[in-house]
Amino acid sequence: MTTPAPTAPAFEVAAVREDFPILATRVGAHPLIYLDNAASAQKPRAVIDAISDYYSARHANIHRGVHYLSATATDAYDQARVTVAQFLHAAEPRECIFVRGATEAINLVASAWGRANLRPGDEILLSTLEHHANIVPWQIAAEAAGAKIKIIPINDQGELLLDSLDALLTARTKLLAITHVSNALGTVVSVRELIRRAHAVGAVVLVDGAQSVPHLPIDVQDLDCDFFAFSGHKLFGPTGIGVLYGKAALLEKMPPYQSGGDMIERVTFEKTTFRSIPERFEAGTPHISGVVGLAAAIRYLAKLGHAALAAHEQNLLAHATAAVRAIPGVRIIGEAKDKVGVLSFVMDGIHPHDIATILDSEGIAIRAGHHCAQPLMQRLGLTGTARASFAFYNTLAEADRLAATLLKVKKMFG
Ligand code: PMP
Repeated sequence: MTTPAPTAPAFEVAAVREDFPILATRVGAHPLIYLDNAASAQKPRAVIDAISDYYSARHANIHRGVHYLSATATDAYDQARVTVAQFLHAAEPRECIFVRGATEAINLVASAWGRANLRPGDEILLSTLEHHANIVPWQIAAEAAGAKIKIIPINDQGELLLDSLDALLTARTKLLAITHVSNALGTVVSVRELIRRAHAVGAVVLVDGAQSVPHLPIDVQDLDCDFFAFSGHKLFGPTGIGVLYGKAALLEKMPPYQSGGDMIERVTFEKTTFRSIPERFEAGTPHISGVVGLAAAIRYLAKLGHAALAAHEQNLLAHATAAVRAIPGVRIIGEAKDKVGVLSFVMDGIHPHDIATILDSEGIAIRAGHHCAQPLMQRLGLTGTARASFAFYNTLAEADRLAATLLKVKKMFG
């Protein structure tokens, strides 16, 4: 007798949807079908309640107060850092800096690490897949330092051409800044291998995890990345909060990014000394309720269990890809072997914005355009794509509705 293959744990999508009040929205006569999760994910009641509870019962400014509420808020803030460190599997909570989002995390490294480390003739390595948030800060840092930017190319499926690394990674490479998952195509990048190769030439590596945290388990120690950036709002948490992970040894050597209250040891008009990490990089009153909400999102996801979510998402992607591919005149953009739930496509003779507008009239939310990845679109010879992006609360029936409505779009345009 053969042993049956292990199956994913049962996942009750209908029950999970009940946790997200916004999913009951109606768009005119139609139930909302929310397929814009790569831009921002919706929030479970656990997150909404945690924020409401924080403001109802626990709010005061943190760190500077001796009174009851200040101590309560400080506890919540510090405990959230522990939760984030566990989520990323960081060696220590102080390696996790609270910032506004992935954009600010990358700007912090480009500005503070860049100022201290980049010199004329140095090279920064990026890839064709990058979001503008992982391009523009490096252009500014490179220009300030007289450094040069080089790009890892991709193939037509949207996968990095790793063969090019031998020529691109040299003793001049000071930093590799690489996305973990492409927001426009869904490609999962084998960052572990890239990190190993970059470290071999002495380069520091920043991983843009904005699109990987909602889909992949993260272990920054196993990856051995030097920096890892993500945003709370794509992880079913609040907007305006995100995390920069950095190895303590690197963060400790970096000059401040922003300055003011909370990040100082001692200030005189002659000289100021700065606190250690994480406070050195958290000037001013932080987004305390955002931090509390982010920790609630992480706890909520942990309760559902990664394996069950991932299995459902892969099922959704395979189902939607097959259904959309079957429509004549549709071309799927981004067919990497390893993908998360992002389905980018174009339709012959129909502008992506027209596709998105017609879908919206039937309650289906997708995104159309360059997805903040103009260099990638140029490489693909496109001005933009239509992009449906899935979360674990989406259903196979929603994927079918997407395909059926795309067929209508095709008929409308003859
Ligand atoms: N990197 C990637 C890959 C992204 O998808 C995004 C958001 N679209 C960002 C960075 C920036 O994230 P945020 O706007 O939340 O700062």
